[in-house]
Amino acid sequence: MIITGGISPNEEGGMAITDEQGNPLASASKLNTQEEAAGHRMVTDAVHEAAPDCKICLQILHMGALAYNEGAVAPSPVRSRIGAFSPAELDEEGIEKQIADHAYCATLAKQSGYDGVEIIGSAGYLLSTFLVEKTNQRTDQWGGSYENRMRFSVEVIRRVREAVGKDFIVIFRIAAMDMLEGGMSWEEIALLAKAVEQAGASMISTHFVWHEAQVPTIATMVPRRAFTGVTKRVRGEVSVPVITSNRINMPDVAEAVLADGDADLVSMARPMLADAELVKKAAEGRTEEINTCIACNQACLDHAFAGKTTSCLVNPRACHETVLNWGPTEQPKKIAVVGAGPAGLSYATVAAERGHAVTLYDAADEIGGQFNLAKQVPGKEEFHETIRYYRAMMTKHEVTMCLGEKVDAQALVDAGFDHVVVATGISPRAPDIPGIDHEKVVGYIDAIRGNKPIGQKVAVIGAGGIGFDVTELITHQGKSSALDIELFAKEWGVDFDNHPRGGVTGVEPVVIKSDREVWLMQRKDTPVGRGLGKTTGWTKRILLNRRGVNMVNAVEYVRIDDLGLHVLIGGQPKTFEVDTVIICAGQLPERGLYDDLMTKGMSADLIGGAYEAVELDAKTAINQATHLAAAV
Ligand code: FAD
Ligand code: NAP
Ligand code: SF4
Repeated sequence: MIITGGISPNEEGGMAITDEQGNPLASASKLNTQEEAAGHRMVTDAVHEAAPDCKICLQILHMGALAYNEGAVAPSPVRSRIGAFSPAELDEEGIEKQIADHAYCATLAKQSGYDGVEIIGSAGYLLSTFLVEKTNQRTDQWGGSYENRMRFSVEVIRRVREAVGKDFIVIFRIAAMDMLEGGMSWEEIALLAKAVEQAGASMISTHFVWHEAQVPTIATMVPRRAFTGVTKRVRGEVSVPVITSNRINMPDVAEAVLADGDADLVSMARPMLADAELVKKAAEGRTEEINTCIACNQACLDHAFAGKTTSCLVNPRACHETVLNWGPTEQPKKIAVVGAGPAGLSYATVAAERGHAVTLYDAADEIGGQFNLAKQVPGKEEFHETIRYYRAMMTKHEVTMCLGEKVDAQALVDAGFDHVVVATGISPRAPDIPGIDHEKVVGYIDAIRGNKPIGQKVAVIGAGGIGFDVTELITHQGKSSALDIELFAKEWGVDFDNHPRGGVTGVEPVVIKSDREVWLMQRKDTPVGRGLGKTTGWTKRILLNRRGVNMVNAVEYVRIDDLGLHVLIGGQPKTFEVDTVIICAGQLPERGLYDDLMTKGMSADLIGGAYEAVELDAKTAINQATHLAAAV
């Protein structure tokens, strides 16, 4: 069963944002006219033609107070912490209009060939804001008692069912644990689940967290299937099938959820961006070949929030299927790829799949490049999966592997390659600070690999992605909470067992303080960590802040000596008496091999960090390599 992205039932419930050409963004889509319905028909016809057994449901998403829209409406004029506009309070007529629009949208969905609708009743969007006292301050029949606050959701389902008749799927998406201080109690959730079932819902889908809450539910640091236990509880209250979601990224995880009786259906979204063939590969027992969603959000949600076309870090074809394509080559070449980091691996995968004879070299004994460092950071264990996927691709497409081999230009010339792709990555930047060679200075590679001892008092120079990751690593005690649901719950102050209001009310996060004192610093005067990903950066900032890491900005580095790190802050001298200074000050491209190949007149391309190290991340590296390999 496919469920579409959110489509608003009216103007006020959606997004009024457009791209640079003034076209509404996909997320701005609404369905409340016959003309719009005709557009949807193209989608449902294509799906049913391709897969007659496949159901497709339209997700009806009224964003309420979170609508990016000056006409935003809500039960009360309460602006969300993350809302762009203050919503207008709905009057009785306005409420009737919203309900009628949901019903009409569902009718149009049915007309357009959908098999059902999913109505969003969670996350801080319109329906859920009626349920919670802080966003519903009404005193009429739509506010006050819980029975009144529940009325809007129940009415929407009742009227939708009435409009679409019996043989149509109506899914209600419930906030099974909203993670709000003073949010919904378990009893209220159970009551709502029963009431919407009674009103005509044919399935209930469990959603966790309001977007404004401060508990991560989809980031890579969240354990797999962290919330399915909550779904199980909802399942015990109703007789209709119940769907679960969040951090279920591989078939075996989904199978375990079903086997444990936590849910009747498992919903996945991002894993389908990472690998559009996930279901097919699972059905054919080709799990090793699945390109796993690593929950980084870098190319999906972070793009969506920046108004960019959604894609996927590990699969740049996602949402670019009409522009990024490749088929068998008519002129097979003998290609050497030097460097088995994300850039080299993705190039080798696509080029070899197309029929080129590819040989992949890496100086290291294992493939993965810097992902082998990333995977060691607590909370980034999913990076193992990307390496596993590429390993499977190298075998499948018969790439000749030369690991543990640092090749030079002459060897490549002698081997008679038609073309060389240089993906040799980066070398860490050694900033020009007097004392940079002092024995207390450690590079981030040595710090992560544990090659050099790290003292009790540490200054980290550079607060980019790697500075944050290194700080996480050196301040982390015990097991990674990404691998332990109980530990994760404690770390974020969530009580799964007793389910107090919102799952979090009165529960203090358990902070495992580091016995290290750490200063994480940068030269910019902006808040430390501002440049991290929009949808995940906050989790890293919160965790390190709670652990007592000192964030220092506007630093001018003066020197490093036996006493520690000497700096100027606002022109004032200050000394951090630290035992260790870890350098995470960005990188420089590693281009020596390319220059040598050019001298020898060899046909060569540069990709990944070797091409451009500034702001180079795996998303850019994989994207660039895939495009190039698709065209060679
Ligand atoms: P690399 O991964 O550096 O690979 C280059 C490879 O070339 C290496 O394996 C090296 O051994 C090999 N090589 C070099 N010279 C030779 C030679 N002469 N012969 C043979 N082999 C050679 N990016 C993100 O997008 N998201 C993240 O969350 C993220 N987290 C990170 C966390 C850490 C701790 C680190 C260190 C990096 C992280 N990155 C992240 C950055 C990301 O890993 C890099 O952008 C990416 O690996 C660059 O890919 P690449 O293939 O260009 O180079
Ligand atoms: P980065 O994010 O560009 O950060 C480099 C840091 O070094 C900045 O804090 C910068 O801050 C500082 N710096 C730069 N030049 C310096 C100099 N000459 N002297 C002292 N400090 C200097 O790069 P990165 O942390 O090395 O990460 C590399 C890439 O991997 C980035 O693209 C990053 O996005 C990606 N990555 C992503 C994640 C993730 O979780 N998404 C994690 C790790 C890495 P000032 O200039 O203000 O001092
Ligand atoms: Fe998953 Fe990251 Fe791809 Fe988004 S960008 S789908 S989180 S792997």
